[in-house]
Order: sequence, then structure tokens, then C-alpha cells
Amino acid sequence: MSNSPYVFLNNEIVPWDEAKVHVATVGFKFGTAVFEGLRGYWNAQQEQLYLFQLDAHMERLTYSQRFMRFDEIIDTAYVGQKTLELLRANEFRENIHIMTTVFVNGFGGPAICGPLGLAITAGPRTDIPWVSSGCSAQVSAWQRVADNAMPMRVKCNANYQNGRLAWVQAKADDYDTAILLNSRGKIAEGPAMCLFMIRDGKAITSTVTSDILESITRATVLELLRDECGIETVERDMDRSELVAADEAFFCGTAWEVTPITSIDRLPVGSGEVGPVVKKLQDAYFSVARGETDKHAAWRTSVWPKRQPDK
Ligand code: PMP
Repeated sequence: MSNSPYVFLNNEIVPWDEAKVHVATVGFKFGTAVFEGLRGYWNAQQEQLYLFQLDAHMERLTYSQRFMRFDEIIDTAYVGQKTLELLRANEFRENIHIMTTVFVNGFGGPAICGPLGLAITAGPRTDIPWVSSGCSAQVSAWQRVADNAMPMRVKCNANYQNGRLAWVQAKADDYDTAILLNSRGKIAEGPAMCLFMIRDGKAITSTVTSDILESITRATVLELLRDECGIETVERDMDRSELVAADEAFFCGTAWEVTPITSIDRLPVGSGEVGPVVKKLQDAYFSVARGETDKHAAWRTSVWPKRQPDK
């Protein structure tokens, strides 16, 4: 994400260079913070910027704050409103990525739970080339943290060190990214995305009790696969060895959208090319996200006033 003119910090919109937090805060020292990453899709024809799945992200932000036992819960209707105000202040008319962080802005030890700060940053987001080309993945030697150690269901900043270890190792070994197994040896997810495979005409993904984040894109994709692609979906444990039998595989997430996986551990997935189910799903996903269809209008929030129809 590149710099943009304005950031929202605590209760106000401030210039990018003035968005500062003290180095002694608990949020900075111990990573006591929760966040959401959101996407906005620009529809040039409608001159509209659509925030995708704002309500679902705000619901998860509330859950994460509650789980962390913060002293207060920042009201997410307020967060959503401030997000829209920030996007308008920055005059975005392009695809964007947004990071919304609630952090402990007080001082002291790791058990301090307040006061809270709220930071919202947003900036232009270019397309990921892997969405069209596919990516390579390494099954990591790093294990996904278990729910009874540090729950991945909570979108807590400190959780991201687990996926980071897997990802930097994968990059050092010349892969694009990683796949993490959980403590039961089953497939969990990627560092910042969930995983699906297409096998025998069915779309299969790990259950939400596999030490994964309850991904909003995963839920979106499950619905689109069934309704728009006519494909049966199955949520169950997945073995690592099954990946070799898969016809197609893909990652999904707000940032990763629907990204084909064309090889795993240097073995091609299916034909090693981007497959037909993934392509069909991508068409459905992007047409909903960009508002090119009237379907699933509730998943989109308009940033700009609706253009009046030409008289
Ligand atoms: N898993 C992890 C660990 C993530 O960080 C993300 C990104 N938020 C995802 C999955 C995908 O979740 P979502 O679709 O809600 O962005």
C-alpha cells in the first residue's frame, strides 16, 4: 500500500506524516492489537467505489476486540462511518486496500487492556499478478498455532508472526508462499488466506475448527461456488497428500482474492495451469465485488453518492 494524503487516527483525520503512536504503548511493545484488511473496488462505468463486505469485517472486528478483553469495544458502526469519511477525504477513485487497527494505546505490561486507539489507513492497490498467473506454494515445516495456544480465529496482530515464519521460509526456498498444517497434521491455510482444492468435481476446504481464520472470502466463495458455479462444496479435514490428487487448488482472502495455486512442493496441481473452476469462480467473484451485477448487493457499500441516471 502506498502513502495517501490522509490517515484516520483516534478521533480525527490527520495528514499521513502526522499519524504517530508512542513507542512505549502496549500495542507497539507487545502487538496488543486487532485489525481488519478490507478492499475497495472501483467501477469506472458507474463512477463508484465499492467497499466489499464492510459489515462482515466490522462484525469480526467486534469479536476480536471482545476476545482480547479490551477495556471498551470501539463501536463498529462508528468505525465503518469513519472509514467512509477517510476514503472520501482521500478522494479515492481506484482499487484500494484498507487496514483498520484497534490497539492498546496505554502504557504498562502485557496485561494492560486500554485505553484503545483506532487507526485506519488506506491506499491504492494494484492487482496481484498471481491472480492470473497462479502461484507456487510450499507445505511449511512451521505448524499453524493451535486454538488453545493463540487462536487464529481472532484477527490479532501478534498471530501474524506464525504465518510470517512460514512465508519468509517459503520465499527463501524460492516459492511464492506457504501452506501451513495444523497440530493434527491437517491442512489449515496459507499465511493470510484460506485454501480450497477441486477434487472429483467438488470444492473442498478445511473446516472452521482447523486453526484457521474464519475468512470472509471463504464464506463468500462457498456461496459463489454453489450458486454461481453450480459446484458442490464440502468442509472437512484435508490431508496434505490429497493435494497431489487435486485437479485444481486456490487460495482466497481479501488481499489474495481468488488466486490459483499451480504447483505445491514443485509438483504441478492438476495440469499445472489455471483451471476452469477457478476461472469461473474468479469471474463471479470480481463481477460481484466490482458491482457489475445486481446480485449480492448487500455485500457492497458505496463510497460515493449514486450517479443520477442521464435524463
Ligand atoms: N487466513 C488468515 C490467517 C488471514 O490473515 C486472512 C486475511 N484476513 C485470511 C485467512 C482470509 O480472510 P478474509 O477472507 O476474511 O480476508
